Amino acid sequence: MTTEKNSATKKPHPPQDVAQDINWNDYRDHLSTADSSGRRKWLFPKKPKGKFYQARTYVSWLLLLIMFVGPFVRIQGNPLLMFNIIDRKFVILGQIFWPQDSIIFAVAMMVFITGIIVFTAAFGRLWCGWTCPQTLLMEMVFRKIEYLIDGNDHQQRALDKAPWTLEKITKRLGKHGIFFGLSFVIGNTLLSYIIGSEALFQIITDNPLNHLKGLTAMVLFTLLFYSIFARFREQACTFICPYGRFQSTLLDSNTIIVAYDERRGEDRHKLQRQQSATERKEAGHGSCIDCHQCVSVCPTGIDIRDGLQMECVNCTACIDACDAVMNRTQQPTGLIRYASRNGLERGESLQFTPRIVGYSAILVALIATFLVLVFTRSPVETSLLRAPGALYQTMPNGDFSNLYTLKLANKTHDRKQIELKLENLPGEISVLGTELFVEPEALAKTSVLVKLAPQTLTSGQTNLLVGVYSDGEKIETLSTVFIGPQTN
Ligand code: SF4
Ligand code: SF4
Repeated sequence: MTTEKNSATKKPHPPQDVAQDINWNDYRDHLSTADSSGRRKWLFPKKPKGKFYQARTYVSWLLLLIMFVGPFVRIQGNPLLMFNIIDRKFVILGQIFWPQDSIIFAVAMMVFITGIIVFTAAFGRLWCGWTCPQTLLMEMVFRKIEYLIDGNDHQQRALDKAPWTLEKITKRLGKHGIFFGLSFVIGNTLLSYIIGSEALFQIITDNPLNHLKGLTAMVLFTLLFYSIFARFREQACTFICPYGRFQSTLLDSNTIIVAYDERRGEDRHKLQRQQSATERKEAGHGSCIDCHQCVSVCPTGIDIRDGLQMECVNCTACIDACDAVMNRTQQPTGLIRYASRNGLERGESLQFTPRIVGYSAILVALIATFLVLVFTRSPVETSLLRAPGALYQTMPNGDFSNLYTLKLANKTHDRKQIELKLENLPGEISVLGTELFVEPEALAKTSVLVKLAPQTLTSGQTNLLVGVYSDGEKIETLSTVFIGPQTN
């Protein structure tokens, strides 16, 4: 997808209160959130209204609920998600992953990276607009609180310029107090995804001196989120998040993005009093009435009519704003819509091209593979290796014996009793010492002795299959070799 400027920017008329210092024909040389001297220009986006905003609100309720409730949901006693990088213990959908599960992790990383590439190539920045926690929290939580306390965009702008009266001080203290409290909740939620909700409760309820590291993390996370949502805001998407930056390498002409239909919108022209849509057409004017509603609602302060821009998080606010204008001016909606560049140039509506269908199928297949790997993996990871340096021993009855080292990792919350059986040959297998138990979420190591009769051996190295059983159920079959004397 090209990022060239549309020819549509011939007659820019930015509203004075939105951008006073920017030459809109040079928009690629200027940040929408900085004035000509490079100072931060605070944005006061108008509150969006429309079917997409409504749908995004419902989606955000669901996702925020999952996000905040996630650390407390238990599946078979395990959290829904936990990424304990300190103890190298990870839980996904209630399944505990250990460093021994590195193959699943490698597959998960491949799924993640491929998923991002495939998804972005097909659907653009759908993730950013609909599901990214930054956008959800900023637009659906913090921004809404701001509208409630400070009023609409005009009132916010006026309050910003107003002197420090009692009303302004009260509003500012109230708003930032709520922002700080929310940041504390978000910070603690993130912390509980890292160390687990039980550990978090312990930090909160125990003597603070026993949890100085945890408390420091709590304070740092709170400050981090407060600075992002109270001050940094859209800059996090523009400067920090790498996703927006590599979208230009992932998108192409078939990628679905939020786009302005330049062919239909141009030549943009202000609406004349009592001019009908037909009269506009006859006068050679496009559908765009240059009202700047799409710019006023944009949380990143850009003009979608300038074409695809890195700052666009595909939040759909401009679609809703423009659709409302189209309805008021009795023109068809969809001047700004989800569309691919090819779709726009050929005047086609949204098409599910074979490429998109193919990409979607790959993505679904990858996710399915990952889920199969996760849910079919063994609850007890085992490995059986011949004891280093040991060959075979001849027993008093003429049988031969080999010594092995058995390593086990119990990934469950239950204490497991392990039993071993020879699967392909008659013989004897025994654990040296007592019965073999592995404590919950623990590792165990023991020596195992295998005895085989001489007539059982097929060569100097006989293949051996050992079944690992727990609670009467086979959990794994291990393959190794039994060393004996050369038989030729
Ligand atoms: S909201 Fe629609 S009509 Fe108004 S300026 Fe934007 S694109 Fe043009
Ligand atoms: S241009 Fe439209 S979709 Fe993109 S960030 Fe602005 S309002 Fe959202």
